[in-house]
Amino acid sequence: MTELMEIGARNAAIQLRGVGKSFGAHKVLTGIDLDIGRGERVCIIGPSGSGKSTLLRCMVFLETYDEGEIHVEGRLLGYSVEGGVRKRDADVQVAAVRRNVGMVFQQFNLWPHMTALGNVGAALRVVKGLPRAEVDRISREALATVGLAHKADDYPQRLSGGQQQRVAIARALAMSPSILLFDEPTSALDPELVGEVLEVMRKLAGQGMTMVVVTHEMGFAAEVADRVIFMDGGRIIEQGPPSRLFSNPQSPRLAQFLDTWR
Ligand code: ADP
Ligand code: MG
Repeated sequence: MTELMEIGARNAAIQLRGVGKSFGAHKVLTGIDLDIGRGERVCIIGPSGSGKSTLLRCMVFLETYDEGEIHVEGRLLGYSVEGGVRKRDADVQVAAVRRNVGMVFQQFNLWPHMTALGNVGAALRVVKGLPRAEVDRISREALATVGLAHKADDYPQRLSGGQQQRVAIARALAMSPSILLFDEPTSALDPELVGEVLEVMRKLAGQGMTMVVVTHEMGFAAEVADRVIFMDGGRIIEQGPPSRLFSNPQSPRLAQFLDTWR
């Protein structure tokens, strides 16, 4: 890595250089270059199968990547380089990165046998090993942030899908991440429940959180994103501020994609 790149990597929240990823013979990410600044809000859009989830998962090493480099807050993710040879050496950096990066998935994956409070606090207990009173204090605060202080003692099955997703967001927030990644957080929800989740995300965006959001909610992207990235076929095809990207797409593929959402 050149000295300039190192400086860039330190300043960026997330930096990808020439990232490639294959599943067997199927190349699903090609030549991804991307810098996400601290406090920046980025939305990723694109057709199904274009590699959006894989890209996001690579950013926390839930998927390994085969080519290029990913730095999260200056840490080379998942590998060390010795004498120009890259060696899988994941554990230390990956653990450090995951402590600072929260992730919210389409499926909320709450523990059914734990209350909302228990779900939010689980990682604080297990990963951070905090004492019970401290865990509960932080968890209640996180639930209040997503507007669910009054549901602390409810089990997931008693909560609506929108409330469950808000608990999942609170669970991510409880770890005090500096970066939040969302993978289609509203795609599994009934339409009438989408708004309450977007509302929470809007609020977080307003608080200066670094956010990367894979979404089909173009209204949300237009309103909240500093930058929208359009992916197709495992590549970044086009990117820019939503005002420009949505009103004046340069590539036919993006124009066509946007047409299907109008
Ligand atoms: P998107 O999120 O944009 O819909 P994905 O990142 O999920 O796209 O998938 C990109 C491509 O990689 C798709 O062709 C998908 O079938 C393939 N893929 C994703 N995960 C796996 C996996 N674990 N094994 C094999 N192929 C996968
Ligand atoms: Mg996906």
